Amino acid sequence: MNYDVAVMGSGVVGLFIAYELAHYRVRVIVIDREAEPGFGVSRGHAGVIHVVQPPFNSLRSRLAVEGNRLYDDVARRLHVKVRRLSTLLVARNPGQLIALPAVWLILNRVYGRRGFRVRILGPRGLRRLEPNVNGLGAIEVEGYGVINSFELVSQLYNFCRLNGVDFALGTEVKDAKVLGDGAIIITSSGEYRARFVINAAGLYSADIARLFGDEYRLEFGKGVMLVFWGEQTKSIVTPLQLIPNPKTKGGAIIPTAFGTTIWGPSLSIGSRDDRSVNEGDIDVLYRKFSGLLRDRKFTPIRAYAGVRPIPEGDDFIITHSKVSKRIVHVIGIESPGLTAAPAIARRVIDMLRNAGAELIPKDDVREVEPMVMMKNVIGSGGAIKGDQGEVICPCMGVTRTDIREAIRHGARTLDGIAFRTGLGMGICQGMCLGRAIKVISEELGIDPRELTKSGGNSWLVTR
Ligand SMILES: Cc1cc2nc3c(=O)[nH]c(=O)nc-3n(C[C@H](O)[C@H](O)[C@H](O)COP(=O)(O)OP(=O)(O)OC[C@H]3O[C@@H](n4cnc5c(N)ncnc54)[C@H](O)[C@@H]3O)c2cc1C
Repeated sequence: MNYDVAVMGSGVVGLFIAYELAHYRVRVIVIDREAEPGFGVSRGHAGVIHVVQPPFNSLRSRLAVEGNRLYDDVARRLHVKVRRLSTLLVARNPGQLIALPAVWLILNRVYGRRGFRVRILGPRGLRRLEPNVNGLGAIEVEGYGVINSFELVSQLYNFCRLNGVDFALGTEVKDAKVLGDGAIIITSSGEYRARFVINAAGLYSADIARLFGDEYRLEFGKGVMLVFWGEQTKSIVTPLQLIPNPKTKGGAIIPTAFGTTIWGPSLSIGSRDDRSVNEGDIDVLYRKFSGLLRDRKFTPIRAYAGVRPIPEGDDFIITHSKVSKRIVHVIGIESPGLTAAPAIARRVIDMLRNAGAELIPKDDVREVEPMVMMKNVIGSGGAIKGDQGEVICPCMGVTRTDIREAIRHGARTLDGIAFRTGLGMGICQGMCLGRAIKVISEELGIDPRELTKSGGNSWLVTR
């Protein structure tokens, strides 16, 4: 099969690249080994739209700032919820309180210059803004955001499909070779030829680069996150560290787009496949964040870990292959890759142009419709018909109609449904799953024994 551009990887980076390409008259294919898009690193992050990152002149920081600015427009267009909020760096002792003006001076030069307002909050200001936060004062940095990244991935996927991008999911790239005018990609389900290739393979991006003879080294950083039922703060809250550790970027108490709260992520260097969470990981998060809150009645509902690729030099690598300008590597997209993704995509499009891609804008780009959840219809006084009110997941208010809608938007697995609807993500963490599996199978028109959690052999019912 012949394409103009092949994108390897359907994480948030690959999807944003495909989204940009969908605006031009080019034939695009996105290849991913997973059953659905966004099942790699992009499924296990904290959902924060960040601002400036240390080191401040790095590509990572520049693309984070640019991506941050692009998000509101993209989210509006794709009907994805972004909530703008501040980050508070909280002073916990008199020494830190005295240091606040000096910290403000430094941060204001870095953040303020790039349009992110920084101010000092005294005890009363802090109490007024965040009654549940325990501290003597704080530095407030404006311009952060939290996003429903599952909705983002789903809507990027829908936009791409609606605008003619092909997807080869459940398809693993095994080998690749440069040809005179492009490349040939050998996958688990056949060969694809493309004039331009983008390697956006996340944790495997260095392996894919090696197929083309390019060498990069990655480390892998595990981040553990603890999820609580309900919102603990309105802002992202973290203890002020006078000697910051650039590797952890602090972690924080983070209100999510789902009305829950995350503590984390932590950072430890380990293996690419290690997503285990142990008592020690939880203990670190409790020691770091519990003292920041006045109300100590925490209801933890889930702990999970994500792994990010950390490149040599601790900066994003976005470069042409040494063997051909037609191959573009996007390697080591660690945090804040979600934030930077829209800006990374625009940079890649420029690189394709420089490599000779003829990108002629389409004049018939189609827009996606929002994914409407029944609870919002009911909440806004809308009428329910037939089985629209049949609730499958009571904690999250997910109905049979929502499951049907998620399937219509491309979900084929339990995780695909859960990511689009929030099914099983509430306080009981999935007491509804037995019934949900039955209903999802009915709606997909398959036997429950054929339904998987996330593709491959991850069956849910004994075969
Ligand atoms: C714990 C944690 C917290 C984070 N929090 C934030 C945050 O709050 N804000 C933020 O901005 N960023 C955050 N990040 C970073 C962000 O999640 C990543 O930078 C981003 O998701 C990377 O997306 P990606 O598309 O590069 O990678 P991925 O999502 O991993 O996509 C790569 C895709 O390539 C596919 N693939 C790999 N090899 C092959 C192959 N051989 N054949 C076919 N397909 C292949 C994979 O299946 C995968 O789907 C966090 C990361 C972690 C781990």
